[in-house]
Amino acid sequence: LAVPDFEGFTADIDRMYQEILPVREGQVAGYIPQLARVDPEQFALSVCTVDGQRHAVGDTCVPFCVQSVSKTISYCLALEDHGVEPTHQHVGREPSGQSFNELTLNRIGRPHNPMINAGAIMSCALIHPGESLADRFDHVAQTWQRLAGGRRTGFNNAVYLSERQTADRNFALGYSMRESRAFPEGTDLKETLEFYFQCCSIELDAEMLGIVAGTLANGGVCPLTGDRVFSEQTVQHCLSLMTSCGMYDFSGEFAFTIGLPAKSGVSGALMVVIPQLMGICVWSPRLDELGNTVRGIEFCRKLVDTYQVHPHAAV
Ligand code: GLU
Repeated sequence: LAVPDFEGFTADIDRMYQEILPVREGQVAGYIPQLARVDPEQFALSVCTVDGQRHAVGDTCVPFCVQSVSKTISYCLALEDHGVEPTHQHVGREPSGQSFNELTLNRIGRPHNPMINAGAIMSCALIHPGESLADRFDHVAQTWQRLAGGRRTGFNNAVYLSERQTADRNFALGYSMRESRAFPEGTDLKETLEFYFQCCSIELDAEMLGIVAGTLANGGVCPLTGDRVFSEQTVQHCLSLMTSCGMYDFSGEFAFTIGLPAKSGVSGALMVVIPQLMGICVWSPRLDELGNTVRGIEFCRKLVDTYQVHPHAAV
């Protein structure tokens, strides 16, 4: 068994949940009304080991939008379609040191990495480019479903519509990438941005996102179904970039203190991967100033205090 004393472990998880529950710092994302209206008290934790042991506590069945967590899966899909080097002709793999939607590209006019908006818009441009938007979205949704052990994902149309309506910054990023000829030839910018907003508006619950994280921990094979969704190399590259770039402007600090590959989103979702061991999802909508879920970060701190899961810990 990946975690021999699973009962003891889940007791620890439940205890951490209770300890973190009173934390009420931070604010829900306010840039679109649909996210601002979410009940900020909600909190869910879920884990899924590489051999399929699972545990979840709190609001585990409430759907939320994946938002920036979608950037991980869109990047994996781009890699699966094109391979590493061709993908990285269009998007870099260095941290940007700037906020996720900053109007900036790297020295050669490419997005800094796939974990910020510009890079994720590029990943979307690379997913099954020749096909209709309907087929491309189906491909993404079906992939999420396979990653989540076959459970059907949802879609929040209201979030999608308001993302699309308040999209000036993302359009600006798109035009700036088009100006520097960063996109593959034939890319339709408007369609690509719409596809990106749709990917952000996919809904899962904490239990499902925990299974997705477990699939990444397991090298791309879903621990519940045995389905190989991504190759080992694809997952390795994605985890590397999650480690260096996954937590907005807190990525360096997170890598230092926690060390684990993780990706957060403005919905308060957080996916953490302990490679070869388990996937973890935390969801709690209140965000700190950098855009990370406050309770999620607190949970990660407690996790490394309790267990030696920092990959560079000496013991
Ligand atoms: N849809 C959001 C945007 O493009 C994603 C933000 C996020 O989760 O970081 O602004």
